[in-house]
Amino acid sequence: LSMSDLNGEHKICVCVRKRPLNQKELTLKDIDVITIPNKDLVMVHEPKQKVDLTRHLENQTYRFDYAFDEATTNEMVYRFTARPLVETIFERGMATCFAYGQTGSGKTHTMGGEFSGNNQDCSRGIYAFAAQDVFSLLKQPAYKHLSLQVYATFFEIYIGKVFDLLNRKARLRVLQDQNQQVQVVGLQEREVRSTEDVLRLIEMGNSCRASGQTSANTHSSRSHAIFQIILRRNREIHGKFSLIDLAGNESGAGTSSSDRRTCHEGVEINKSVLALKECIRALGRNKPHTPFRNSTLTQVLKDSFIGENSRTCMIATISPGMVSCENTLNTLRYANRVKEL
Ligand code: ADP
Ligand code: MG
Repeated sequence: LSMSDLNGEHKICVCVRKRPLNQKELTLKDIDVITIPNKDLVMVHEPKQKVDLTRHLENQTYRFDYAFDEATTNEMVYRFTARPLVETIFERGMATCFAYGQTGSGKTHTMGGEFSGNNQDCSRGIYAFAAQDVFSLLKQPAYKHLSLQVYATFFEIYIGKVFDLLNRKARLRVLQDQNQQVQVVGLQEREVRSTEDVLRLIEMGNSCRASGQTSANTHSSRSHAIFQIILRRNREIHGKFSLIDLAGNESGAGTSSSDRRTCHEGVEINKSVLALKECIRALGRNKPHTPFRNSTLTQVLKDSFIGENSRTCMIATISPGMVSCENTLNTLRYANRVKEL
């Protein structure tokens, strides 16, 4: 039996992606403590101090469905993670793909890609690759006759509050109706007809995300961004793909300030990633009870967790440097617990 067979019939895939050392780390002479010796193994050479105060490295090994080294492109990561989930939404299913890791580890690079003001030379991330394949599958004989329409939403969750990134960060309410359906009231759902349409929305949402706040960077690293591709047939939802760039998971220690807001943010982020882990695990076990009520994040993803045909993929992003070791180990442990059913 392979790992994916154990994970609730391929319902959950857990991967790790390591980024290269960046300029800042190189300048500070940080060293790379992560090796990916195999396509599914991650080794951490953790610095330890012996009783006599000599320093040495202690190795720890973690196994995942896939481990991507620093030379892996976004397109390759996409192919092994989100790509298999695109079919799911054509088959009336719900798909979710999460990027989880500390701030600066590569979540946004992986999911949203990078834009330089000019769509022509943006580097595409998983949002764009997924959209591209959605448009190509639409034309295939197996799906063409369904006359599906494609829509996109892009929103953010910050301390349990929802903000629409396609509508000047309008604050939106989350309600559960009589049919137990969770609604984000007033969320803009834009029809998209091409990958270019999708790229425009991503860029628009990204600039909206970075705007407004005095400390926009801090804010965006402490919020979850959710980009959804929705297939509709005669207005009814046929399938939905939620692509999520989670808030940085770093522990409070080492972050800039200890003011009340920072603490509040941290508590909220912990709560939502714990709820997320529980919901994913429930999905893998086909458990009847899914604790989606425990956070706004899992609440808005309710239909993706309780659907009969739901699949999830998590990409844990890690920084290679020794200074990030503690956060990296936390990320790997969390990813490991999501994997273990
Ligand atoms: P996060 O969203 O997790 O805070 P980012 O995606 O913003 O992190 O990445 C932080 C920095 O590292 C960015 O400058 C980004 O360009 C760079 N980076 C991240 N992942 C990679 C990668 N796999 N290859 C090259 N550069 C990367
Ligand atoms: Mg980011």
